[in-house]
Amino acid sequence: MSSFAIRHAAIFTVDPRDRVVPAGTLVVQDGIITQIGDDREVNIPEGCEVIDARGHALLPGLIDCHSHSSLMRGVTENMPLMEWLPWYQLEHRAMTEEFAYHSARLCYLEALQSGTTCVMDMFRFMDRCADAAAELGLRVQLAPYVADKPGKDFFSTREENRRLIHSHHETRNGRIRVWMGLEHLFYCTGDAYREAAQLSREYGVGIHTHCSEQKEEEQAVTAELGRRSLAMLDHYGILGERTLLAHCVWLNDDEIARVADTGTSIAHCPVSNAKLASGVARVPEMLAAGVTVGLGTDGPVCNNSLNMFEEMKFASLIQKAARLDATTMPADQILRMATINGARALGLDGEIGSLEVGKKADLLLLNLSRANMTPVSVNEEGGNLLWNLVFSAGSTNVAGVWVDGVRLIDNGEAVQVSQRSVIAAAQFQGLALQEACRTLSHTRTTMV
Ligand SMILES: [Zn+2]
Repeated sequence: MSSFAIRHAAIFTVDPRDRVVPAGTLVVQDGIITQIGDDREVNIPEGCEVIDARGHALLPGLIDCHSHSSLMRGVTENMPLMEWLPWYQLEHRAMTEEFAYHSARLCYLEALQSGTTCVMDMFRFMDRCADAAAELGLRVQLAPYVADKPGKDFFSTREENRRLIHSHHETRNGRIRVWMGLEHLFYCTGDAYREAAQLSREYGVGIHTHCSEQKEEEQAVTAELGRRSLAMLDHYGILGERTLLAHCVWLNDDEIARVADTGTSIAHCPVSNAKLASGVARVPEMLAAGVTVGLGTDGPVCNNSLNMFEEMKFASLIQKAARLDATTMPADQILRMATINGARALGLDGEIGSLEVGKKADLLLLNLSRANMTPVSVNEEGGNLLWNLVFSAGSTNVAGVWVDGVRLIDNGEAVQVSQRSVIAAAQFQGLALQEACRTLSHTRTTMV
């Protein structure tokens, strides 16, 4: 494999000391970071390609800890969660392997274009999502949408999840990993949770599910199952270091303590939680309790965007606004959530999430020579650039993205695939899926 050096960049390592190198060089050999430091200290190996990154910032690729690929966007708006879910089920009744493949290609492309190098995707027909990820080259965690309660047979089956582990876990140099995916307590039997816990131990795979997203849902879970969501998941034995829970908006103090004690991680999805009027997760309390919290977009249906820059900014602003406290959730904390803490939530912090020697080269290069990032002043504490990475930067600044040391985005354009053909196919397939949903709309049922 090739080796290359990125020179003269403002490097935000997000390492344990949050080291910033204002004018630095990073060397990658065979997909691994082998050197990082001040321009004057790093020796460029012979034959190494040199990329002049003057006027650019280099940081770890962003990590989306909770998403659902989809071809639907902007078609189920102005609805709270419980009203919205039956419409969402229509998409899944109409879903085919072909639609799933094009959903994943489109979403993975959008992720890469906005600087995301690793996506946790909970979706359907995930062998086809693996095909899409292999084509585009990004890192994915695949958690099939398993539902095994009667009437929910249009989601993925437990058998499909088991098969996917055997066929795809740790393939493509480890870029593709498979998780046990469980839709929700209303969709899955106790047996499904118990099996997930057992297979997680047996195969060393993670468990991903939704938890306590909305107040009304929490009340319905308690009424129907006799326990609150977190207690129910605890009862089924799935809390632990390999488990990642999406949302957790309505956790009380005891539940946050229990999440922390068990080493369970949380994927915080502030834009989706706001859009579906679910509420504001108690992230400062979670962090204070020692919970690992990553950020997630929740996909195009309930976010309309897979842009982690938007998610970062919103994650900070919504806490400041809701708490009337301008000091809560500062830029360094948010940047960690979108990188190293996301990696930790996915069990990948030994490999990705920060720029450190020995880690995989999942890199994001941002062009600072744009109006939205000007003026730039960077020092060893980050300067104004640290704040602008979180509050000003966006897809327009994405100059380069690498995963495993392979360049996937060059000047905002995909390298491995024809961007135009991915988008054209998704446009055609997306309208076909909308039409398929319309023909099924008489099957729509209410929740619970
Ligand atoms: Zn979700």
